[in-house]
Parts: sequence; C-alpha cells; structure tokens
Amino acid sequence: MKKLNKLQKDIAGILLKCIIDEKYTISYKEIKVKIKRISNYEITDRELWDSLGAISTFCDKISLPPISVIAINEKIGCPGEGFFKNCHKLGLCDSDIISNSVYNKLLSDTKNCTEWYKLEEYLQLDITGDLEDYTLNDREPDSEGKPLPISTNVYERSAYNRRECIKAKGTSCLICGFNFGEIYGAAMANKIHVHHIIPLSEIGDEHKVDPVKDLIPVCPNCHYVIHSKKDGVYTIEEVKNMIADNKRRSKNENT
Ligand SMILES: [Zn+2]
Ligand SMILES: [Zn+2]
Repeated sequence: MKKLNKLQKDIAGILLKCIIDEKYTISYKEIKVKIKRISNYEITDRELWDSLGAISTFCDKISLPPISVIAINEKIGCPGEGFFKNCHKLGLCDSDIISNSVYNKLLSDTKNCTEWYKLEEYLQLDITGDLEDYTLNDREPDSEGKPLPISTNVYERSAYNRRECIKAKGTSCLICGFNFGEIYGAAMANKIHVHHIIPLSEIGDEHKVDPVKDLIPVCPNCHYVIHSKKDGVYTIEEVKNMIADNKRRSKNENT
C-alpha cells in the first residue's frame, strides 16, 4: 500500500482534526495557512491538490470515505474537479465532473463514518493536545522499576475513539460514578479517561476497535487500579467487586 509522505500526513492530520472537532469544511486557503504554521512551508496549489488526491486514495485503501471531501475551494463551495476525478477513478462515483449530489453523498459518508481512528492510528498524530489530557504516560514505574504495562493504550489515546465513547456513554466513571464536573465544576466537566476493555491477549491483528463497545469511561483512580494487575488488567467487574467487597468489609467492621 502506498504510504503518505510527510506533507500529506500533515494535511491528513489537519483534516482529521476538523472531523474530531465536528467541523466538516475547511477551505484550501485555511489548509495552506495551517501548513505554513506547522512546517513553515509555502505549499503550492498543485501540491495541495495532489496531496488531497493521495489522501483520498489512501482512505479508500483502508476502507474509509475520502476525507478530502471536506477540503473545499472557497469560490465554488465544494472540492475542485481533481477531487471528483479521483473519486471517479476510485469507483466512488459514476462521473468525473463536479457534482452536488456526489459531494453531498461523500460528505455524509464522511460525517457518519465511525472508523476515523484507523487514520488516526496510521498518522500517529498528536492531535489530542487541545482536547484533553487523558493518557497514563506520566505514571510512576512500579516498585520493581519496570514500566507499568499499558497494553492497550494505542486505543485509549485516540482522540477520535475517546470522543465517540464519551458521546455514547457520558463522562462519569462507569465503575465508581465519579464525575469531574460534579466535584470540580463545569470547567472540568469533560475530563475523564477512557479504557479499552478487551485484554491484549484477545486482540488479534484483525481486531477493529469499536469506540462504543470496546471503550469505557473510567476515572483516573479506577483506571489506575484496572492497570495495576501484575499480568494484564483487571476487568470492570473485578474492580466493581473490589469496591463492593471493601465497602462491605468496612461496614462490618464498624458494626
Ligand atoms: Zn472511578
Ligand atoms: Zn486502560
């Protein structure tokens, strides 16, 4: 499979960031300004169009809709003819001329796609910065000095996955009920970790992350506990039981 070069990756990252922010159009001009800011590089129209084509083609290869559909020529309010020519070549539409109905169809495919984490994983982007800080990367190593095994955090770090998980399941810890907004106020309301439920041993190469089924919002304390098992991770049930058992125990001690 043809990979994307540095410039194409930067542009794909800009487009993906829009998707994560639920912004479904960005003008060619805006992209050029952002590229200048990111890499201090003055990109030509030709390079931009070629890159957008390469990105669409790449998306198609990994079974995603052509994300370049959100990149529009501000004069005509939709992508330029190169986009439609390329989509035609990829078999995504019947004709290679600029068409409103093709545009609307591909745009809605893009809006409805729930698998953008695939592109995010490929790009290994650090686009999470202005979303939330929710990684466990800064944790202390355990007492034996070996780094804690955070086996599944590829998925847990994905901004796209996180967003979809929270949309479906909310921002309260599904183990203990902790909610940042309730304790620290509205400014902290969107803080929460997400945990990938499926154990590493069960993840094969073909495992596709379903952000809703496979991820669960948990508070940093519960998340720390989940990942504190010697080999592997505790299940959600195990941690819930831990809390319940401990409550029962301390209640019995007090009576
Ligand atoms: Zn919790
Ligand atoms: Zn986790």
